[in-house]
Amino acid sequence: ELGYPEDELRPPQSRTQSKSRNSSVNGRMSVEDFEFKEELGQGSYSTVWLGKLLATGQEYAIKRIDKAHLKRHQKEQTALAEKNTLVRLGSGHPGIVRLHWTFQDEWSLFFVLDLARNGELQTRITRLGSLSIECVRYYAAQIVDALGYMHSKGVIHRDLKPENLLLDDAFRIKITDFGTGKLLDSGGEPTKTFVGTAQYVSPELLEHNESSKSSDFWALGCIIYQMIAGRFVFRGLADWQKIKQLEYSFPEGFDEQAQDLVRKLLVRDPDQRLGAGPPGSPYDMQALRSHPFFASINWRTLWTAPAPPLE
Ligand code: ATP
Repeated sequence: ELGYPEDELRPPQSRTQSKSRNSSVNGRMSVEDFEFKEELGQGSYSTVWLGKLLATGQEYAIKRIDKAHLKRHQKEQTALAEKNTLVRLGSGHPGIVRLHWTFQDEWSLFFVLDLARNGELQTRITRLGSLSIECVRYYAAQIVDALGYMHSKGVIHRDLKPENLLLDDAFRIKITDFGTGKLLDSGGEPTKTFVGTAQYVSPELLEHNESSKSSDFWALGCIIYQMIAGRFVFRGLADWQKIKQLEYSFPEGFDEQAQDLVRKLLVRDPDQRLGAGPPGSPYDMQALRSHPFFASINWRTLWTAPAPPLE
């Protein structure tokens, strides 16, 4: 009579009971708890869906990973790293995609993530050509803040780039794609695996196959340059000599303070990159936050005040 399908009126309990016949165990989440509404995108071994949790109506991004594909390409470790990293980061920061639940069936792993409705920052840069200096300041500050949290939890991202910076309803950043994330046990000593994306690769990764949290700050320098100039600072591995020799230049009109910041991030010595130095050093996180480029940023309202118009 009310015009609702019978299914939607069924109370959550009976849903839980009925699903126990299928894949889920002991009241854990399963595919049946969600309505899969539309496909949001595809990765190399996954498909991301917009899914609605039937019990609450809340929408999420549900990443479905094909188990057979993982096995065939020996990517089980990548999926596990992604899950472990997200679990360690928890719900502790608004700028990092939160993992709400995981579950699996015979064929797939499912990760239920925060939904970032406004897609990838890369798409916006491509569409707009470049971003206004106010936008760059805002997004750079959000990345800095999220990196500070991530690193304090012993996580390095290692593949920071505008494709992995998603935008939520309010056009705030949500960092995603922790498949190449690394958990540091203690001390944050460098790790020796080549991962990352060519345009954002740091000299230490190129030369010694080493990355540390400092490599995330190199990537930040590349991203700030790209948002302002509308092109990569280094084109990729073909530019490896240029990366090592810090051979790049700023286009005319490039904001002076942003130039100074980029120069302090694109530094060869990982320990002297702004943001990456030990607390109390001239290169520590506080020094990065205090850089003149961020003078007008209110760090306390960074995640609550409205975002500047994306232009
Ligand atoms: P690869 O696995 O090759 O690195 P990827 O990281 O882009 O690719 P996925 O994480 O599966 O792969 O994401 C696929 C697409 O789904 C992405 O391009 C992104 O646009 C979209 N997407 C991913 N996560 C979310 C999310 N939390 N909210 C909204 N859209 C998302």
